[in-house]
Amino acid sequence: MNRIASFCVDHTKLEKGLYVSRIDGDVITYDLRMCIPNAGSFLENGALHTIEHLFATYVRNSRWTDGIVYVGPMGCRTGFYFLTRDSIPKEEVISLLRETFRFIAGFEGEIPGAAEAECGNFRDHDLAGAKAVAADYAAVLDGWTPERMAYRA
Ligand code: ZN
Repeated sequence: MNRIASFCVDHTKLEKGLYVSRIDGDVITYDLRMCIPNAGSFLENGALHTIEHLFATYVRNSRWTDGIVYVGPMGCRTGFYFLTRDSIPKEEVISLLRETFRFIAGFEGEIPGAAEAECGNFRDHDLAGAKAVAADYAAVLDGWTPERMAYRA
């Protein structure tokens, strides 16, 4: 089988950030890199799971809801995939994600969708962990620009 494009990105050189990984028709896949790969610290599963719930809820309730395709965690627990229509300009994706991660960093109360009937592993949530990760990543996005979204070969 062919090695898929995302495995061809040199993971030994990746910094935290926001990158475009694929364009399929009008769908853009963004990689949200929140941890430096293989550097010892990864997103703990509870925090990753709570971010997933809050991230998806926030963007699907935002002004850009019609352009949101998918939000999901990377299996390596170093970040998230975010798929949008290309109708959302890249500058707006950066703004939306900055807002989203500030929202998560400040979130208090019940995690949306985290009741037993709504979630496949409702006990595995960590709001405090999610907030810490989100605060760190929101700071990464401060000053981020579309020019910085290209993976360096
Ligand atoms: Zn869940």
